Amino acid sequence: MSWKFDYLIVGAGFAGLTAAERLCTQFGKRCLIVEKRNHIGGNAYDCYDDHGVLIHNYGPHYFRTNSPRIKEYLSQFTEWHPVDYAILSYTEGRFWNFPINLNTFEQIIGRESTSEEMEKWLEEHRVTINNPKNSEEVIISQVGWELYEKFFKGYTLKQWKRHPKDLDASVCGRIPIRTNRDDRYLKEDFQALPKAGYTRMFERMIDACGDKLHLLLKTNYRDVMPHLEFDHMIYTGPIDEYFDDCYGQLPYRSLRFENESFTPEELVERETISGKPGFWQPAMQVNYPNEEEFTRIVEVKHATGQLCGNTTIVREYPDDFGPGKEAYYPIPAPDAAALYKRYKEKADGESGVSFIGRLATYRYYNMDQVVGMALAEVSKITGTYD
Ligand SMILES: Cc1cc2nc3c(=O)[nH]c(=O)nc-3n(C[C@H](O)[C@H](O)[C@H](O)COP(=O)(O)OP(=O)(O)OC[C@H]3O[C@@H](n4cnc5c(N)ncnc54)[C@H](O)[C@@H]3O)c2cc1C
Repeated sequence: MSWKFDYLIVGAGFAGLTAAERLCTQFGKRCLIVEKRNHIGGNAYDCYDDHGVLIHNYGPHYFRTNSPRIKEYLSQFTEWHPVDYAILSYTEGRFWNFPINLNTFEQIIGRESTSEEMEKWLEEHRVTINNPKNSEEVIISQVGWELYEKFFKGYTLKQWKRHPKDLDASVCGRIPIRTNRDDRYLKEDFQALPKAGYTRMFERMIDACGDKLHLLLKTNYRDVMPHLEFDHMIYTGPIDEYFDDCYGQLPYRSLRFENESFTPEELVERETISGKPGFWQPAMQVNYPNEEEFTRIVEVKHATGQLCGNTTIVREYPDDFGPGKEAYYPIPAPDAAALYKRYKEKADGESGVSFIGRLATYRYYNMDQVVGMALAEVSKITGTYD
């Protein structure tokens, strides 16, 4: 006996859930989502930890978008908590404003300054490179060697275990550098978190599908394939895995998270550092570019706005990818892109399968981009371009 569906969707992350929601509610299709983890949401999953603190289990997820369409789509399932995602950098025994802006410049020269003076300083220090081809070039061509070495080089080496020279310009190029006092980490117009958390938003997407949607957790899709009949598959897992690594495994970077929680009493003596009661550090995210093994400490309570006496901080250690580890980041480098291209050509020849999301397209996409990709794919496979 086999189960019949219109669509088999592999993965219950942003990509799979968006596709499922549209196919079920807009087109009345019967969908099955198969997810190998024991929860929905993919890497955007959040939950309350044992100390009652809402945490992002797979690293902090700062939602932002410039697309009114994507904001409108997700707003059907959540209200929003607006956030200015604040970041600092910690090196040489002190906090620095980050991303680099006029405040950082003043910290470096040890006195008040102006945008004009900072621009002149940058002009004198930056290296002339007309068309920066890698992450080292893109930063030294904007700020010069000193700031590159203080804030970027060590962080990038730890994060990717590759020299910035061997990484695409986009890796470091996405971090803004400003000569005014705008210290927002991100550039997008809309920056907010789902008010009741990502998981609650995903649950509402699933609820909207009613009995059109079936969800199987803790299941590798390969284990159920022999029992299924379906017209089309939407695959959001790793593309190399789909093809049994036939050209070799694509390179990924993994992460290790170390959580530590504190009670209000334990936090009292941190107030001189955090600047307010109930918090461990002065910003949502503090980068550690140089001296420590971890790359950042995140205290997401700063961003979620949760009213809670306890707090949890998460130290993030970059890690090699291997058996039993999550593939968090595709490597943005030319050799990896060349190998992916071979898998992509194979995927293009596959009929009845859509490859979407960050793993199936082997590319670091933000959440809003993945939602956009899923919406576009549903339009394509249903022949309903808008
Ligand atoms: C540390 C980190 C921080 C991030 N921070 C941000 C941020 O601040 N802002 C932002 O916009 N984006 C951020 N992102 C990116 C964001 O996580 C992705 O854009 C988004 O989660 C991608 O959704 P997805 O559905 O493509 O993939 P995923 O969320 O990875 O979902 C894919 C799902 O497929 C499942 N799966 C895989 N193989 C199988 C199989 N064989 N059978 C069954 N199920 C399978 C996986 O278990 C997973 O749940 C971050 C990513 C990471 C790693």
